[in-house]
Amino acid sequence: MKDRKTARMRGIIACLLLVFTVVASAQKREWGVNREIVQVSESVYRWGSDNQYGAYIVGTDGIAVVDGHYCPSGTMQWLKEQLAARHDVPVKYVILSHDHPDHVCNSQVFNDTAITIGHKNILPHILREKRSSSIPQITFEESMEVLLGGVTVNLIYLGPSHSDNLIQVHIPAEKVMIAVDIAKGRSLFPDYRDMDVHSTLKILKILGNMEDVDIVLPGHGAITDQQNFRDQRRFIQALHDEVLAYSVEGRKLSEIRDLIQMKEFSDYRGHDRWLDQNIVTMWGYLYRYREPNQRITEDEAVACREDVSQCRTSDPVESI
Ligand SMILES: [Zn+2]
Repeated sequence: MKDRKTARMRGIIACLLLVFTVVASAQKREWGVNREIVQVSESVYRWGSDNQYGAYIVGTDGIAVVDGHYCPSGTMQWLKEQLAARHDVPVKYVILSHDHPDHVCNSQVFNDTAITIGHKNILPHILREKRSSSIPQITFEESMEVLLGGVTVNLIYLGPSHSDNLIQVHIPAEKVMIAVDIAKGRSLFPDYRDMDVHSTLKILKILGNMEDVDIVLPGHGAITDQQNFRDQRRFIQALHDEVLAYSVEGRKLSEIRDLIQMKEFSDYRGHDRWLDQNIVTMWGYLYRYREPNQRITEDEAVACREDVSQCRTSDPVESI
């Protein structure tokens, strides 16, 4: 009897150890995987690891590095060593595409030689969130030209999109566009937090038709071209239109979540994981966008306060 008990205890302990090992290994992410630098045109290079990419541009006067990296990846320190070994000009500028932590972290490794540039809206985000980032000393509103000696780099702000401070970095003579976190192509964002959806749709159209762009460098994923912007725009527009139409019909959020399938986009990356959260956050965005003809009843307002899936923004139409 005692032996059986001991054996059972041993079994339980072995199971627990196995569970702890599995959990521990699942939580421990290996960083700095697939570090690489790839030359994409005469002066433009793409660098990164862990499926996260920045870029840098080399002129006769110096280098401009675009973006930081994931905080724990160690890739910025590695990049600094690589640039010192590969090029004989200093890093003069760090250009931050936007404030999100995975694109600014450890950008301060270049503070000994570089001035940091970003859109003027980037500062409050970096300061409020206490990002581990270089803080831009130079900001701009619509556009800015950075001259590196033989290479002209255009910084472009087309309005709020994926964040209110996302910029694109264009090297027109080499037809390269660095379009971090807006060149999302055939993949879904996890949700629409921090995004101005209507302005994003306009900007994706502009970027999809801009001249002097053959090569597009996204912040995540493979090197691409302008079709990437069109593919992303098609998805956001379709989701926007469906959520809006059902909202006008007076559907509850819970119904809208059931009704929208977006099957024609089932090959898009993240469709299985993130579609539901895309619907919910698109609904939240459009809730703030439109005013229905008639307000919902007090009872419905109470139900909505208690459970957001019971919210509707209009009276239900007759046919429902
Ligand atoms: Zn981002």
